[in-house]
Amino acid sequence: MTEYNIAVIPGDGIGIEVMKEALKVLSVLEAKEPDFDLRVENFPWSSDYYLEHGRMMPEDGLEVLQKFQAILFGAIGDARVPDDVTVWELIMPIRKQFQQYVNFRPVKSLPGIESPLSKGEDIDFVIFRENSEGEYSNSGGRMFDSQLTELSLQNTIMTRAGIERITKAACEYAVKNDRKKITSATKSNAIIFSMKLWDEHVKRTLLEYPDLQLESYYIDALVAYFVQRPQTFEVVVASNLFGDILSDLGSGIVGGLGLSPSANINPEKDFPSMFEPVHGSAPDIAGKSIANPIAQIWSAALMLDHLGREDLSKKIVKAIEEVLLEGKVRTADIGGSATTELMGLAIVEKLKEQYVTKKVGTEIHGVK
Ligand code: ATP
Repeated sequence: MTEYNIAVIPGDGIGIEVMKEALKVLSVLEAKEPDFDLRVENFPWSSDYYLEHGRMMPEDGLEVLQKFQAILFGAIGDARVPDDVTVWELIMPIRKQFQQYVNFRPVKSLPGIESPLSKGEDIDFVIFRENSEGEYSNSGGRMFDSQLTELSLQNTIMTRAGIERITKAACEYAVKNDRKKITSATKSNAIIFSMKLWDEHVKRTLLEYPDLQLESYYIDALVAYFVQRPQTFEVVVASNLFGDILSDLGSGIVGGLGLSPSANINPEKDFPSMFEPVHGSAPDIAGKSIANPIAQIWSAALMLDHLGREDLSKKIVKAIEEVLLEGKVRTADIGGSATTELMGLAIVEKLKEQYVTKKVGTEIHGVK
């Protein structure tokens, strides 16, 4: 029996609603798979927790999390708590402290989901977003508050090591998954220090992968190409800010935030990796039971991939695809009226069907 210890942080808003469905899906696997034992511990770290305790997680929160093999995260964000508190006191410390320097986001056509941009061809690429440095740094400051001379300074931190390791992760993925092309997002014509370093070390790292082709586009052109010809991308590598924007655009291209999973990965497995939907807590629909749980359920599938259980991950993705292809159960974001629970249940049922042994009919040949 292989045991997997998972920390679950549902967070705020729809994070709580969609997480319930992901856990139901995982528990089907636990019940059906003889060698899959999931030990789940739930952590209520959220905006409510902050309002009660004055912090997003306990002082030893990271120490506690470090003992787990993976973290399944819902979403965070609440009007009662400033965004910089929710983000910088929970998600960012986890990503940075645990060296989750790869943010992996698949962008894939799904059966039954029409993309206005696909032109009949499948869209199937992945984004490797640098997740530990770059534009999202807490280096900087403000001076002369509320005066006419008020100023701010926000530093971008790009390191050779940081650029190399995200590029390497993208290349390794490409090699393993038979992809031939890496697309780099840059803006070195205008951001002449950090982005030039980015270009140089992306290019240098690619020299180690002679079978991979590198194309490099300025981010403004690249967003246009995402819209005009999304089918042509295979593996996209981008800095923290550019990768963040490209991923939301990517999810919009293939059906919206309700369908888009992501993984924050520490490839060396020195620390736990964290899996979460691309979407946030969606306060506008929270509490209404109408959120699409697919992004969260698919994030759980990415977690299983990372834990070395590609077999189980594939089963979940297959169940999602079957529900979407059938088209009977759809949440509002993809044109239906099903509740979050109903969508979760439909995926659970499809997953269970994969364990039903089909009866083989008896055929007697030659007898009329
Ligand atoms: P953040 O800044 O953390 O990304 P946000 O509130 O700006 O959060 P989201 O929470 O991602 O953005 O939501 C953006 C829009 O997408 C909202 O209108 C929301 O209703 C919709 N949305 C997000 N996730 C889902 C989902 N799982 N199902 C249905 N609609 C969703």
